[in-house]
Amino acid sequence: MKSTIITVQSQTAGEERTNMTTALFPGSFDPVTKGHESIVKKALPMFDKIIVAIGENTSKKTMFSLQQRLQWLQDTFKDCKNVEIDSYNCLTTDYCKKKNAQFILRGLRDTADFQYEKNISDINTMLDSSIETVFLLADKQESTISSSFVREMLLFGKDVQMFLPKDVIIPKKDISD
Ligand code: ADP
Repeated sequence: MKSTIITVQSQTAGEERTNMTTALFPGSFDPVTKGHESIVKKALPMFDKIIVAIGENTSKKTMFSLQQRLQWLQDTFKDCKNVEIDSYNCLTTDYCKKKNAQFILRGLRDTADFQYEKNISDINTMLDSSIETVFLLADKQESTISSSFVREMLLFGKDVQMFLPKDVIIPKKDISD
């Protein structure tokens, strides 16, 4: 079941495009997982462009460096020409304005995600009501995957490759703490 349907206006060949739909998929991606990859791939037909961007302005301490996380995102979406990878250190709504993104894309695994995401969406709407948050449901096989679970497994020396996009390889030596 899809939670939101977006209608993209059709276009005549050669006509100049003034209604580009751009969505921002923000997150920590520490590390990017098959769950994140799946949400972006499901959303590709809905938007002209998806910006997958790492928000740096949180107080969260990450396991992997910004540079490493950006590289893994580049590797994951290297074949998706409408996906741009970036990072930002301002409010998400301000970054949307800067990039002309009308939508924020988020994934939902369960009701806990829904509650958390709804609060963030409400705050973002208060900050800028022109930006709409679009939620997509995780597929069953990815609904239990989370970056925090992957990090936990790594700390206990477990193999996590089955949870990661095929081009994301995490050798144990890359774990900083
Ligand atoms: P944040 O640090 O903002 O929580 P994450 O990198 O953990 O960012 O996640 C970014 C987005 O991806 C969030 O909307 C989150 O709900 C979604 N997400 C994370 N894991 C999955 C998954 N397995 N399936 C679908 N969506 C997911």
